[in-house]
Amino acid sequence: MKKLIIANWKMKLGFNESLVLAKKISNKLKSNKNNIVICPDYLSLVSIANILKNSKIVLGAQDSAIVDSGAYTGEVSPLNLKSIGVKYVILGHSERREHLHENSAIINDKIKAALKNKLIPVLCVGEKLIEREAGEAKLVISDQLRRGLNKVDLKNNNLVIAYEPIWAIGSGKAIAPLEAEEMHQFIKSQANKILKKIVPVLYGGSVDSKNISSFMSQKNIDGFLVGGASLKSDEFIKICLQ
Ligand code: PEP
Repeated sequence: MKKLIIANWKMKLGFNESLVLAKKISNKLKSNKNNIVICPDYLSLVSIANILKNSKIVLGAQDSAIVDSGAYTGEVSPLNLKSIGVKYVILGHSERREHLHENSAIINDKIKAALKNKLIPVLCVGEKLIEREAGEAKLVISDQLRRGLNKVDLKNNNLVIAYEPIWAIGSGKAIAPLEAEEMHQFIKSQANKILKKIVPVLYGGSVDSKNISSFMSQKNIDGFLVGGASLKSDEFIKICLQ
């Protein structure tokens, strides 16, 4: 089955490096059975929109603002992102929750602003290691879903959830595929209760070309959010061609 594979380049590349990587990926990935999205940093978004113009790869952003325009120094408008061809926007990534103190209320506002502009939010949820060890993973994630999706209306819109256990991000220690499957089943049913709609749930956390096939075969894993392994063209292409 077709999977959604989203590359999150974070703030890891220089401007030229981003353009070179986007060109390499789009040149080598001419046909692909999966749906591929690349989320570069803001600085390179417009240039990469041009690079991807004639490819099947879709453009995403790593964040967007809570309003379309106004006195919000440093923010980037979802309306403007939409106008340059952005289709997906990652929201609530654990790095933003941790380093930028983003809470669920802000993330909820960002989701609503993105949906208003017909962007597809990719809501990231996930537990810390200490929470998993205390048996609280599901509790933490239910809370993130309940608050993040509060009064979100998906009648004419789409949304994706990314399950990213925080301890698996960038650590080289992915979750065991069967544990991921169990969490995905749980997240799907919780999200369905809130949204009255079944939404895709991606897995993120140390996915690479070696471990991806063990996740691909899980029924409730609809795709992947890939950080580190999306920064090397050959590695990312191997992932996309699975
Ligand atoms: C991420 O940051 O969303 C991520 C999944 O990173 P990595 O693949 O490097 O663990």
